[in-house]
Amino acid sequence: MAAVRVGVIEETALGERRVALTPDSVPRLRDAGVEVLVESGAGARAWFPDEDYAQAGAAVVDTDALLAGADIVLCVNPPQQRLRSGQAVVGLLQPLLNPQHMADLAAHGVTAISLDALPRTLTRAQSMDALSSQANIAGYKAALVAANRFERFFPLLITAAGTSKPAAVLVLGAGVAGLQAIGTARRLGAVVRAYDVRPAAKDEVKSLGAQFVELKSVEAAAGEGGYARALTADEQAAQQAELAEHIAKHDVVITTAQVPGRRPPLMVTADTVKSMRAGSVIVDMAASELGGNVEISQPGETIVTNNGVTVIGAGNLPAQMPTSASSAYARNISALLLHLLSEGQLAIDLDDEIQRGVVITHNGTVVQEATAKLLEATP
Ligand code: NAD
Repeated sequence: MAAVRVGVIEETALGERRVALTPDSVPRLRDAGVEVLVESGAGARAWFPDEDYAQAGAAVVDTDALLAGADIVLCVNPPQQRLRSGQAVVGLLQPLLNPQHMADLAAHGVTAISLDALPRTLTRAQSMDALSSQANIAGYKAALVAANRFERFFPLLITAAGTSKPAAVLVLGAGVAGLQAIGTARRLGAVVRAYDVRPAAKDEVKSLGAQFVELKSVEAAAGEGGYARALTADEQAAQQAELAEHIAKHDVVITTAQVPGRRPPLMVTADTVKSMRAGSVIVDMAASELGGNVEISQPGETIVTNNGVTVIGAGNLPAQMPTSASSAYARNISALLLHLLSEGQLAIDLDDEIQRGVVITHNGTVVQEATAKLLEATP
């Protein structure tokens, strides 16, 4: 049988600079009998030129040849290119946020495989965990973006010209991204506090040398699979009110809270931003078209309020560190791809726990339970 061909497409989303596969991952796939096609220019914005792919053993081709020749298309964001029936696509497809797109792919005979639906608590799936690898990068970058924009020192400095107080940083949401933001802000010398609704986050925050902020008005809200559950409207209002007092005392606020498949929880209201001191900085890592953790943040934009607070809508920070982000993503997607292959061919097996999570559509049907349920509930 002919070798399976994977095709790496150029990302077309606005501001996206990552690429799904980097040259260093090509030999690993070729060793497994996979032929690799790369769309010319796909890696350029992450500093991976076509020549590096060619040298690693990939065939660099134009868009049409790639879409016609690839059995499996590899991407970061949901592809805007039209895929053909019988083709498979692997990427961060966000099926729970866009179930109709999945239904369309199924109707079109495309097998959709989404890395963000990976059962992340399985030990054998950890090398495939792109949500973690990208959140880790985003958290690091969030602390740097905040420090860069903040017009005072982060560390305590005692010099002949006086003493500067360390910056007070508050991180809201202490999952993978939040913990990395805490560690990075601490290394820059800030005094860091953090809050999360999952009780398990408390020890993790403390182990990084930050203080955990306890809220009296909100119960613990751990959900399934290590994630938070969505708060009720009353809980959310109470959380916003109690957080407001803490936020006003901080110079920098980094928000990272997410609930899978939902719009990000609103934690910082417009009134709370008004209560902050001039010169304060907020980085909203959840800022997206769906809304963010901060009422007034705009995705991809930096605004300065009338009271002098800078609010950065930073929903896609991995795209601002595309070289590291792409390298990590390439290892994740290669590990998943190798798991999906049997004797060099794509072998969909919904009895396998990993595949049952990530395979969203197959044989013309939406097969993944959570996405299918959402579609049933949609009128
Ligand atoms: P995420 O991106 O879904 O959310 C980020 C954080 O926001 C989470 O910590 C969540 O609790 C928090 N959050 C959500 N709503 C909130 C609210 N209203 N108020 C305050 N905080 C809120 O989460 P994530 O970073 O992808 O991971 C979540 C958990 O899963 C972490 O504990 C992580 O360690 C765990 N995890 C485990 C594995 C594994 O076992 N291999 C892999 C990845 C992640």
